[in-house]
Amino acid sequence: MTKQVTPTLAIVVPCYNESEVFSLCLRELSAVMADMAGNGLIAGNSYLLFVDDGSKDDSWTQIEAACRGNGHVRGLKLSRNKGHQVALMAGLTAADADIIVSIDADLQDDISVIQDMVKAYLAGSDIVYGVRGSRDADSGFKRFTAESFYKIMELMGVQQVSNHADFRLLSRRACAALLAYREQNIYLRGLVPLIGFKSSCVYYDRAERAAGESKYPLKKMLSLALEGITSLTVTPLRIIAALGLSISALSMVATFYSILLKYTGKTVEGWTSVMIAIFFMGGVQMLSLGIIGEYVGKIYMETKGRPKFFVEKHVGGAPDAS
Ligand code: UDP
Ligand code: MG
Repeated sequence: MTKQVTPTLAIVVPCYNESEVFSLCLRELSAVMADMAGNGLIAGNSYLLFVDDGSKDDSWTQIEAACRGNGHVRGLKLSRNKGHQVALMAGLTAADADIIVSIDADLQDDISVIQDMVKAYLAGSDIVYGVRGSRDADSGFKRFTAESFYKIMELMGVQQVSNHADFRLLSRRACAALLAYREQNIYLRGLVPLIGFKSSCVYYDRAERAAGESKYPLKKMLSLALEGITSLTVTPLRIIAALGLSISALSMVATFYSILLKYTGKTVEGWTSVMIAIFFMGGVQMLSLGIIGEYVGKIYMETKGRPKFFVEKHVGGAPDAS
């Protein structure tokens, strides 16, 4: 396969209330890009694309200011906060380049490995995953929740590259393939491996957030995990079926036991077991209904086919018509 010798690169950076870290992020990423362009690794018209995900602080003002007089910076403002995954999708939709790297604004991911990603692309990979070697910089709680998150997802049958978040390189065609998935419920880490194409990994150590605080509180993380599971696998439904089957088998035994008791004349006792059975079955049924409901809810949202995001403004680069 022939690949353009000096590909254009777009680095997509979702920003939600990242005013504290923005200037550092801009400076560091610009330096890395200038370096790569200097070495002939990427084309001179490569650029950074910041996606403002409805920030309430002055992130957008800073993005606009950065675009002024700098042809290597572009900005995209979403009409409201839609979450990290949708902000990324918006960036990928707008990015027009041979290779697209997505990275968080907080510089927790080692930007020096972007070079290695580009090299892996030049060597033939369409997807390059950034994989964290160590999480020493994260707090114990963050590490524990993140690790449980991957474990549970794996148990539920979601295939993903473990310790890979949303720091990755996509070739133009891999990006187009990803955007062809039209679903409303987006969990990119689970979707990207479904595309196929040749992929590889680059490894790095995760640093601390350069400034500001995490925009992923436990609540958002739990909903991301739930999103990932319910949008990528039906294992929970299978678990319900298996549970139903096991309980049915158990109840057969209980039936025989009850009949036996009846004919041996010991039928007065048994209040406790009846109560336990009622509570247990009630609980299991409610839980099962809840899980099924979660999937029905997903179907409901999918059938609406609502637009995932609206772009309020573009700055920098060729002005777009939206
Ligand atoms: N982010 C976003 N929209 C949101 C929440 C987060 O665009 O609603 C962005 C955020 O600005 C950052 C990235 O997603 O660039 C990852 O967020 P963060 O670093 O806070 O997550 P953590 O590393 O703590 O999991
Ligand atoms: Mg972070």
